[in-house]
Amino acid sequence: MKKVIVVLTTKVATFNNYINGEWQESVSKKTFNSVNPANNEDIVGSFQASNKQDVQLAIESAQTAFPSWSQTAPSKRASILNQAASILEQNVQALAEELTREEGKHVDDAKNEVLRSAQTLRYYAVEGQSFTGETFPNDDSNMKVSTEREPLGVVSVITPWNFPLSIPARKIAPALITGNTVVFKPSSDTPLIALRLVEALDKAGIPKGVINFVTGKASDVGDLLVTHPSVRAVTFTGSTAAGEDIHKKAGFTTRTQMELGGKNPLIVMDDADLNLAATLVVNGGFSLTGQACTGTSRVIVLRDVKDEFVQKLVEKTSALKIGHGFEPGVKIGPLANEKQLKNVLKYVEYGKQDGATLEYGGDHLTSGEYQMGFYVKPAIFTNVNPNSRIAKEEIFGPVVAVIEVDTYEEAIAIANDVEYGLSASIVTNNLRIANQFTKDIQAGTVKVNRTTTGNLMNAPFGGLKKSSTSTFRESGRVGLEFFTQLKTVYMGY
Ligand code: NAD
Repeated sequence: MKKVIVVLTTKVATFNNYINGEWQESVSKKTFNSVNPANNEDIVGSFQASNKQDVQLAIESAQTAFPSWSQTAPSKRASILNQAASILEQNVQALAEELTREEGKHVDDAKNEVLRSAQTLRYYAVEGQSFTGETFPNDDSNMKVSTEREPLGVVSVITPWNFPLSIPARKIAPALITGNTVVFKPSSDTPLIALRLVEALDKAGIPKGVINFVTGKASDVGDLLVTHPSVRAVTFTGSTAAGEDIHKKAGFTTRTQMELGGKNPLIVMDDADLNLAATLVVNGGFSLTGQACTGTSRVIVLRDVKDEFVQKLVEKTSALKIGHGFEPGVKIGPLANEKQLKNVLKYVEYGKQDGATLEYGGDHLTSGEYQMGFYVKPAIFTNVNPNSRIAKEEIFGPVVAVIEVDTYEEAIAIANDVEYGLSASIVTNNLRIANQFTKDIQAGTVKVNRTTTGNLMNAPFGGLKKSSTSTFRESGRVGLEFFTQLKTVYMGY
């Protein structure tokens, strides 16, 4: 018998903004609900529907806190990050359950995300303390020439729902350790887990105004977060459309870092281990219900091995358990919201209309345990025309388009013929082809015999073309660069 998951919510809790060290209601006096995507009758919490006035207050508070925070000893800033990391670690189970309830991913994945977020805070606590300028040899023996790194000022952090804790952590930690102050606006689909990060920083003793938290609709709060003259930088992760909008609106003296959409290919060569290739596609395309920006959405396969590969892919996909993120063994949870569900179903229809063969899945699951959630069976299309919509546009759900080719050259041409360039992989044992692929492919993250998903916190992350602004990378040591400006000092004596 199926385990029934009952969430007992007698009263919906209301959560506030965090401005100038105080948890406070929006000036608007309005709220909105965050809903469990596995059970749309389960309200996770009620959050402030903020307006421009709230954002104004948050930015002013960050501006006021900046001089003191930028002068605070780096070791003190680091100890606050470490303390916040400990709070996340100590509460990992409870936080993971909240994350699952709010976003839908399996609780084991949610636990990993909580722990990775804590690790990210710790990583930047260390790395940020040794981030320095350089000295330059010069011909004047009575002069030292060096660069110094300074924080920028107020930074707006705008984030999506798919990694609602780890993406904010990888932006907020480098911003804070380098001495910036922050106004953070999370996705309205996942405000609770975002609030928990701010709460951890608050409990860790962060001075008032250094981090501010404002929830609400992009149409109410987005513009001011980007255009306010005190905002010196906007770090954003989300859709390419929103990223382009923000990038255009930001002022001349405001830096932008945009991590955007993808249409990530995985090429299966004719010498590939087809079991491995199918497993990589299942893990890269369907884990997190296909809602990873680096998720595999196109498989470009050499014609000779296509039938055997597709057979293995369908076999492995049909073994995936779909269900609530609290159930053991579940590999595919609900989509994160209704808009996502409609979008995925729309693209399944586009695939059929454009003549592709639906080999597996694509159904909206509506009965039994699935009836209250946004569930869809993962979809595999074959005979996909490389110019059709499912081959070109980001779907951001569990839909994989298999495209057949005759040669490596054809595979690369198709892989590169999209507007995105986030992540890409090839499955081959041929070292020459693998090496050539790293040069030919237009992607910021290039993998060989690995999933398109997954990136290290200590290595640079970002895309090419419309997947990122081609300015600053996130993650790793280079992730600190975005949050600092350089001064070159000529010191004569
Ligand atoms: P989204 O663009 O709808 O929203 C992201 C965030 O931006 C939310 O907080 C939203 O309220 C805010 N926002 C939206 N429009 C805005 C505007 N005009 N001005 C200011 N703020 C605005 O994206 P989403 O649906 O939350 O997330 C899914 C998208 O995120 C996918 O396209 C996915 O590829 C992308 N993503 C990219 C990465 C990456 O690192 N490249 C990682 C995760 C997700």
